Amino acid sequence: MNYAWEMLGEGVHRCRLRFLDVTIGLVCGRTGTLLIDTGTTLAEANAIKADVAEIAGSAVSHIMLTHNHFDHILGSSAFDGAAVYCAPEVAATIADHAGELHAHAMRYGADPDEVASAIAALRPPENLVHEAELDLGGTTVTITHPGHGHTCHDLIAVIANSERAVVFCGDLVEESGDPAIGQQSDLAAWPATLGRVLEAGGSAAAFVPGHGSVVGAEFIERQRRWLREQV
Ligand SMILES: [Zn+2]
Repeated sequence: MNYAWEMLGEGVHRCRLRFLDVTIGLVCGRTGTLLIDTGTTLAEANAIKADVAEIAGSAVSHIMLTHNHFDHILGSSAFDGAAVYCAPEVAATIADHAGELHAHAMRYGADPDEVASAIAALRPPENLVHEAELDLGGTTVTITHPGHGHTCHDLIAVIANSERAVVFCGDLVEESGDPAIGQQSDLAAWPATLGRVLEAGGSAAAFVPGHGSVVGAEFIERQRRWLREQV
């Protein structure tokens, strides 16, 4: 194994990448294997791919990208044949703003050549959605856009087939650092959006942040209070 994967429920796993502590989610059903976010480089993505083959025994069939930031999307082209689901804004970034993706990655210290080759390999995502239900065979993943927050188009994924729901929150929730408030963020809307993230999982759910350790509902409430204080 290239990464240390945590099992969060039946067929539900995640790992933390070394670069920027990005979370990668994995949901394995009988007929489909979903990857949630894909890392920054093709080298990272290929290491994830090898791990998925061991854990799931099959290739990635679906990818969900939580939002348009480089550290979540640039690895996606390593997964040939996977159907990519993302918000239309992610597709627009890939089509029209590759230069900004590169510049953003450089500000965070990514390798220039690796980022350039990942951007060159990007293809247009097939499924532009703000909500979707993915049937992976015995496991359903519900994708929704709970509102503006970290960006205007963050998507979350809820898996509710175990006794404890698992919610992949993207960067609407961060644990290893304060939430990243950027030019695309909507600070005024973010706390209410987190309210909908909480509702989507319920009070007992495991909430998986875009960066950091898995948290519970009380952490999300704390982060809502912190965000309200930043306005
Ligand atoms: Zn982000």
